[in-house]
Amino acid sequence: ISEEEISSIGEQTYTADKKRIRLLANINLLSDLKNATLFKAEGIGLYRSEFPFIIRDNFPSEEEQFQIYKKLIERAPGEEMTLRTLDIGGDKILSYMKDIEEENPFLGLRAIRFLLKNEKIFQTQLKAMLRAGAGSNLRIMFPLISSVDDLIAARKVVDKCLKDLKRDGLKYNKKPEIGVMIELPSAVMVIEEICEMADFVSVGTNDLVQYMIGVDRSNDHVAWLYTAQHPAILRALKKIADGAALKKCDVSICGNIAGDEKLIEILIGLGFRKFSMNPAKIPEVQKRIEKIDTVEAAAKAEALLEKGLVSEVKEYFESHGI
Ligand code: PEP
Ligand code: MG
Repeated sequence: ISEEEISSIGEQTYTADKKRIRLLANINLLSDLKNATLFKAEGIGLYRSEFPFIIRDNFPSEEEQFQIYKKLIERAPGEEMTLRTLDIGGDKILSYMKDIEEENPFLGLRAIRFLLKNEKIFQTQLKAMLRAGAGSNLRIMFPLISSVDDLIAARKVVDKCLKDLKRDGLKYNKKPEIGVMIELPSAVMVIEEICEMADFVSVGTNDLVQYMIGVDRSNDHVAWLYTAQHPAILRALKKIADGAALKKCDVSICGNIAGDEKLIEILIGLGFRKFSMNPAKIPEVQKRIEKIDTVEAAAKAEALLEKGLVSEVKEYFESHGI
């Protein structure tokens, strides 16, 4: 990317009719922060914390994790820092956790389920996050929440960690914002109740598409079925946007569709105003947004929600040059 292209990226993003849109970065490694800053992300909407766990041959200690999260928070652009707790299981298997063998790992002991079953590992990570977030805004987000009950259970562990840190006289963030990834159809169906209890929600469409359509996101044999341009996905997104608005809950999309300049107009039309993506996608998504009128976008989204067939949805996108 040239200097000129960099300088053409705006610090803030507005639609053609001057509605504020926020573009944040998804990052996997500390080194990704360079791009997040270069492409002027307004914050980090998703830090996938599993990478330090995958490259080691044992669980990183609280101190090791603390050092990583601390550096992240110090070096990240913007005000918002969203740390996602461990999302392992599914296709992300730790070499030192081989004893878990499952026939259907994507439906198994993955993400928040693994952490709730292995509470010590969960507590270690939460304490490292809470300590690293002392004195700054800290958002902690749980992946693969399937019910309000999951959220209550996870919050209880956060409360226990807060208590322990206080008892031990350590510096920590006393009021972390707690968020939920909406990645399962079950979470969509209880979105209002989740929004009532969570400080924010973020839609993980990579998984939501997989679990709604019942199509493995990493299986080439069924890749043709894997699409967000599906009536059920659009209606689910609408339900999430409406539920969050009703409960005045901060909502974003952090799945890959957030960085898809073909889909962004419809996502805005459905009511979303905040998107987290691979930072390299920010320039083209921002340019696209600057041409969007939110009233027109809402009309297009409305028309699309009427379509009942996948083929009709795809046809609409093509015929409207979206
Ligand atoms: C998602 O599922 O959309 C998501 C952002 O999380 P991941 O891709 O890490 O599963
Ligand atoms: Mg996911």
